[in-house]
Amino acid sequence: MALSQVAAKRLFQDVWICMRCNAKNTGQKGKKPAKCRKCNSTRLRGKKKGKKKAG
Ligand SMILES: [Zn+2]
Repeated sequence: MALSQVAAKRLFQDVWICMRCNAKNTGQKGKKPAKCRKCNSTRLRGKKKGKKKAG
């Protein structure tokens, strides 16, 4: 479906996860946020794309 591609882009693009508190941080296009909005940690990782598999 066309929607899923758009939705996936919005969901996974420019979203960074804090490795300390797991908060979602939205960055600017192609840019990583400077730090976590919750705990101010700079340890952020990009949100992984892909499907979840059981197990
Ligand atoms: Zn954090």
